[in-house]
Amino acid sequence: MKIKHIFFDLDHTLWDFNKNAEETLSEIYEELNGSDFIPSFSAFYNTYIEVNERLWGLYRNKKISKASLRTTRFNETFESFNLFNPNLAQKFGDEYVRRGPYKSHLFPDCHKVLSYLKSRYQLHIITNGFEEVQAVKMQSSNLNQYFDQTITSEKAGVTKPHPQIFEYALAVSGAKASESIMIGDNFEVDCVGAENSGISAVYFNPDKLVQNKKVSYEVAHLKELLELF
Ligand SMILES: [Mg+2]
Repeated sequence: MKIKHIFFDLDHTLWDFNKNAEETLSEIYEELNGSDFIPSFSAFYNTYIEVNERLWGLYRNKKISKASLRTTRFNETFESFNLFNPNLAQKFGDEYVRRGPYKSHLFPDCHKVLSYLKSRYQLHIITNGFEEVQAVKMQSSNLNQYFDQTITSEKAGVTKPHPQIFEYALAVSGAKASESIMIGDNFEVDCVGAENSGISAVYFNPDKLVQNKKVSYEVAHLKELLELF
């Protein structure tokens, strides 16, 4: 590979989104006495994950706004337990957005792999997350030291897999598509998106999900990147 620039996705690729979200939500659930209205934290959490994924799909397709995503995901989670309490949903939503990004669980070997790669390549982030939220996450988990450019969908004006965000990322990094590679956990959004823009891709697939297409490379653990590069 004649690679000079490596673009990483952030959530679910480096920053362990699910672990961080679960820890944050369990603190809020305890503090706001969640067990008074929802049978158990795991019931609440599993429903939230489903609702959130569905609403993120709508946000990516510009069907709902950022503000709506942030409150609706808790409203809908509560409603599935027959709890109709917009004020409480708002409180959960606000606390979650305020605290979540300060969590710092990363996938195993993240720092080791990034410091190795940084000594050989220029590293950048391309994320569909929100500007201020992603900045806090990078800071809290000590990731800024590795990356030259952090490209958010808010800055680019479109979300992955839109080709425009990849073109924007190449432009601000001074990178050519042929010398770049994208690493991410979302097969369509990160990998197929990058390859449609002429950037090869590594599918980070820790759960070994089966896809009906192939991209250039696939790893189940970040440390496999040490062999690939
Ligand atoms: Mg991701």
